[in-house]
Amino acid sequence: VIEIRDLHKSYGALEVLKGVSLTARQGEVVSLIGSSGSGKSTLLRCANLLEDSQQGEILFKGEGVHWRGQGMARRPGDPKQVLRIRTNLSMVFQQFNLWSHMTILQNVMEAPLTVLGRDRKEVEAKARDYLAKVGIGDKADAWPAQLSGGQQQRAAIARALCMEPEALLFDEPTSALDPELEQEVVKVIKDLAAEGRTMLIVTHDMKMAADVSDRVVFLHQGLIEEEGTPDAVFGAPKSERLRGFLSATS
Ligand code: ATP
Ligand code: MG
Repeated sequence: VIEIRDLHKSYGALEVLKGVSLTARQGEVVSLIGSSGSGKSTLLRCANLLEDSQQGEILFKGEGVHWRGQGMARRPGDPKQVLRIRTNLSMVFQQFNLWSHMTILQNVMEAPLTVLGRDRKEVEAKARDYLAKVGIGDKADAWPAQLSGGQQQRAAIARALCMEPEALLFDEPTSALDPELEQEVVKVIKDLAAEGRTMLIVTHDMKMAADVSDRVVFLHQGLIEEEGTPDAVFGAPKSERLRGFLSATS
């Protein structure tokens, strides 16, 4: 579904991604781990075109992004394609990013209504289904501030699902949560993995990464240092840096 080839990204003189290649096939769960500042969030943001990149290819279902310009001036050239890719790669953020002036149901319905122009009745039925699926069907009419962090994050996941995307991108979905609340969200992510959803998950939670992933990718200073199955990456890490990272996080 998503293929990234030799991606380079700089902020001014700071080169954050130095040639990263990453693929998530249909139904695959790929976890991205690495130290703070290694470029994990940047990679996710580049993947769904929230950030520009200077070199390399991004393919969505085999279709390459059409670029205009070169180097620091490179931008995606086709707004329709950008919209298609963005709506098909739904992001879930660490800080939930729910709209505080909308109820939970309105939050979940907003993008399918305004971005995709779907029928209100159908969207509402779907939104209620997804809220029930993540275990907060009774919170549809509540305001975000009335929910716990775990419930807010599950609402944000329902919102991403309601776009019916090809893949879900998670950026540290559990790291703003207390340990008890974290497990509610981990359970939802496990259920989605079991359903065969394509997911790219940036996480500090090595246990979750081990449990849900088909593949784990370790990013170090803007390059992939090691990748493999959870058993290989966590059980028999080859790189010295990965061993150091794992012993520091456990
Ligand atoms: P963390 O685990 O702390 O979330 P990360 O791996 O997600 O880290 P990124 O957020 O991708 O790291 O940041 C990688 C590098 O890019 C960091 O050095 C960061 O300071 C820099 N960076 C990120 N966003 C910007 C920006 N908008 N402008 C300038 N530099 C940025
Ligand atoms: Mg980050």
